[in-house]
Amino acid sequence: MDAGQRESILVVEDERKIADIVRAYLEREGYSVRIAPTGSEALTLLRERFELVVLDLMLPDMQGEDICRVIRENSDLPVIMLTAKSGEEDRIRGLGIGADDYVVKPFSPRELVARVKALLRRTGKSRKKTYSINGGNLRVDVSSREVFVKGEKVVLTPTEFKILMAFVENSGRIFSRDQLATIAQGFDFEGYDRTIDAHVKNLRHKIESDSKSPEFIRTVYGIGYRFNGTMDED
Ligand code: CA
Repeated sequence: MDAGQRESILVVEDERKIADIVRAYLEREGYSVRIAPTGSEALTLLRERFELVVLDLMLPDMQGEDICRVIRENSDLPVIMLTAKSGEEDRIRGLGIGADDYVVKPFSPRELVARVKALLRRTGKSRKKTYSINGGNLRVDVSSREVFVKGEKVVLTPTEFKILMAFVENSGRIFSRDQLATIAQGFDFEGYDRTIDAHVKNLRHKIESDSKSPEFIRTVYGIGYRFNGTMDED
């Protein structure tokens, strides 16, 4: 991370005292922290970009597991679960639904901070700032949000950029239209499938040399789309 660009952490915790302590410790380490005291507030805040989520299992309106599941359906965002259940089964379940790590309450804030750092180190390595694809035919600069096709800058809308990022970061993975709609619009999108086709069509016009025979964004008939680019070696 560049200086001045602080990693952002979402803390989903209804117990005010715990949330405040966690926030204080994380902020002291230079992280930017947002707190969501309920599941629904967490889902709203998750439309913004975070580098990591600290997620309490027991929330007033939802189960932490459900939020974790929603996060996992949409991204690889690192999740640390806070749980008061120390039973073996619950721990396994917590990881089984896609949490990257868990901390059992009562916990030491220092330990939580250490886990946050370790997890960000682990996940940060795989997260690049610039992607160069198919011999530099397509380049995506994540921090400046600039996209270059054969060296020429192309201007994408924020939605097109979000879709392209999802493709680039998950090359080879098949996305359904629903999944792309969620990525494009946030977690409560209820729009019509076809708008995604329109975004993809526009994106193809901008990044493909021949949008009738796309090199990057392939259609997977009956399912959705798949990104076909190959990452260049560093
Ligand atoms: Ca709780």
